[in-house]
Amino acid sequence: MDEIKKKPLVGLSLAQLREVAAECGMPAFAAKQMAQWLYEKRVETIDEMTNLSLKARARLAEDYCVGRFAPKMEARSVDGTVKYLFDGVGGRDIEAVYIPDRERATLCVSSQAGCKMNCKFCMTGKQGFHGNLTTTDIINQVLSIPESESLTNLVFMGMGEPMDNLDAVLGAIDILTESWGLAWSPKRITVSSIGKLKELRTLLDSTRVHIAISVHSPFPQERLQLMPVERVYPVADVMDLLRGYDFAHQRRLSVEYIMFRGLNDDLRHADALVRLLKGTDSRVNLIRFHAIPDVDLKTTAESAMVAFRDRLNAQGVTATIRTSRGEDIMAACGMLAGKDRKDD
Ligand code: SF4
Repeated sequence: MDEIKKKPLVGLSLAQLREVAAECGMPAFAAKQMAQWLYEKRVETIDEMTNLSLKARARLAEDYCVGRFAPKMEARSVDGTVKYLFDGVGGRDIEAVYIPDRERATLCVSSQAGCKMNCKFCMTGKQGFHGNLTTTDIINQVLSIPESESLTNLVFMGMGEPMDNLDAVLGAIDILTESWGLAWSPKRITVSSIGKLKELRTLLDSTRVHIAISVHSPFPQERLQLMPVERVYPVADVMDLLRGYDFAHQRRLSVEYIMFRGLNDDLRHADALVRLLKGTDSRVNLIRFHAIPDVDLKTTAESAMVAFRDRLNAQGVTATIRTSRGEDIMAACGMLAGKDRKDD
């Protein structure tokens, strides 16, 4: 079989690897061996799985490949942030961003090529939707960057709305957290969402990962101008759902709030945000807006961000101003745009 048509093993769960073992006439315990080669030893070829018999490896290689693929381009920021470009789907490349910060090393992964949500402030939203990534595509971002072994944290905050591709995201979380996979604590993972209710509930019920919700305005009509999804999933309903979960122990709820000058950055908004978040045990990340072409939104002054933060803190809501990273390589929040392969 042509190498390109072979099915990838990376991205498969232990249960799926058991099916592969059975299909290839291997004993059931070979599934665990394969998982160990893929996720612990991180091999790139079936030949390297040396505790599988030669015959088993040959049979496996008839239909399968490991399925790892390296990033095809990278851009390095002066602040140490690195943006990696991977082959995506639908003719669009996708980006993952490596963010070193003292003892932490975070990877921001993409879950879709493009996005359907069309948030006004986001370059990914501007390019439309081009397809869902598979679990293989997501895990490959983690395994195939040069800094893979030193990663401490993972955030699903790259291109796409993770709740719009929930099965693939749950598959990736499984591989990241299970003992047969990378065996990470779920506390090292944060999934960001605009708040698709049914999928968010499934994520909350089936994992222990941290959650980040994009709010950006406490007022429905204003949020609608920024995020068309407000029409379908009002932020008040999202908060009602989140009040039913415990974010005081074990897991964390963050509220993402991009600040736009003259639009959502005065103290009236801060007070309304406090009311909206009442009873949620959340903390607020205030994010600087980075101008993008053809969008009439403006960056808030530092002094207004500080005043907004102080107002939240004074009312008992923990708020911090997130340091912007990778602006010079277009890797900061809202700036990911991938690349159209037709341009290559
Ligand atoms: S901010 Fe997130 S949900 Fe909104 S368009 Fe961009 S990628 Fe999609």
